[in-house]
Amino acid sequence: MKLRAVKGMHDILPDEIGRWHRLEAAFRAMASRHGYEEVRTPVCEPTPLFVRSIGEATDVVEKEMYSFRRHDDELTLRPEGTAGAARAYLEHTVHARQAVTRWSYLGPMFRGERPARGRQRQFHQAGCEIYGDPGPVCDAEMIDMLVGFLGELGVGEIEVLVNSLGSGDTRARYRDALVTHLSPRRADLSEESQRRLDKNPLRILDSKSPRDQELCADAPTVLDVLDGDDRAHFDALRRHLDALGTPYRVDPRLVRGLDYYTRTLFELRGSGGELGAQNALGGGGRYDGMIAELGGPATPAIGFALGLERLLLAMRPELPRAAPLVVLVPLGDAGATACLVLAKELRALSIPAIVDGRGGKLKAMMARAEQRGATVAVLIGDAELERGAVAVKTMATHAQEELPRASVARVLADRLASLGWES
Ligand code: AMP
Repeated sequence: MKLRAVKGMHDILPDEIGRWHRLEAAFRAMASRHGYEEVRTPVCEPTPLFVRSIGEATDVVEKEMYSFRRHDDELTLRPEGTAGAARAYLEHTVHARQAVTRWSYLGPMFRGERPARGRQRQFHQAGCEIYGDPGPVCDAEMIDMLVGFLGELGVGEIEVLVNSLGSGDTRARYRDALVTHLSPRRADLSEESQRRLDKNPLRILDSKSPRDQELCADAPTVLDVLDGDDRAHFDALRRHLDALGTPYRVDPRLVRGLDYYTRTLFELRGSGGELGAQNALGGGGRYDGMIAELGGPATPAIGFALGLERLLLAMRPELPRAAPLVVLVPLGDAGATACLVLAKELRALSIPAIVDGRGGKLKAMMARAEQRGATVAVLIGDAELERGAVAVKTMATHAQEELPRASVARVLADRLASLGWES
């Protein structure tokens, strides 16, 4: 049997990792500018956590979870980050110490979906959560932060959709209104939507079937049934977004896949870059009921997640800015020792350096340095050692010069800095 990566799960090889590092660093910088602190939770959680928070009748829980049994525990590889963060928030009684908590996270998620461009079975999300603030100020700030972030990444055209699902009561009333509207048309709905009509009718609004969409076109919208407080919350969110100049469109049919949302709901869609049909870059919303549902005190909360693979497809393609590399080429035993010592000095100045200890002809060693992507090769043999010098070859120009051994590390650090690379 040929061993291969699991279908829908991908290796990220060194030639791609630079873009990942830059995206992750940009996300962490943005989150920290807005007062979020990073949290890292396990990739695996007890299965009931996801069933209770995401909801039993959702696609994720019904058909996409990677669940298994080990040591008598039912476990699941996390399909998203919000449930695990909420579990950690409760487990460490953070609510007892902080009135408002802002957390960010970044890492792999797992869903057994049908793989396609921009849809994988292991993918990466970066997200933020705010606990303890009922909004709508922080809701507007979060959406505006995301729009700014996508702009910073050079993601071209984006569309921001917002909606409100109201709080507990409203949602139930809307559910009833939708069932009343769709029940007489039941037989015309797709098979999937007929099933959802009983289990999770709001998800019918998400159906891709044109027939279902037609049947939903004149259905009441959730905004029609918002109560006074929910409406005031949504109106305030819109006022804040308008004041911030954040573009958005109200989409009363936006429901999103997970069950835990209340009130504010949003999704960011892209169209640029190499993004295909999977154009949802990220989204989120309020989940004011989840912390209590998981056994904690009533705590309002809001969060979002961005899909990193999709952001990489949609982002401005940057010129690869290769990290500098010094390859040290020893000629003879004494040269090898000198190379090891110099490499250590370079690394202490944060310059990546490797010693080619394989020996052989000078020409072969220089070819290997070239192939390895060296910015500079440093040759040290007996002759150089005698003169207290080293030979430095700049690979791009092939220029070779001799520099004093004592100061070469500092000189190379200054040169690489002037090339725009900061150590
Ligand atoms: P969700 O957790 O479903 O709200 O998804 C948030 C974001 O994660 C989406 O907008 C996508 O960008 C990304 N995402 C969700 N599922 C996948 C997947 N299977 N493959 C790649 N990205 C995904």
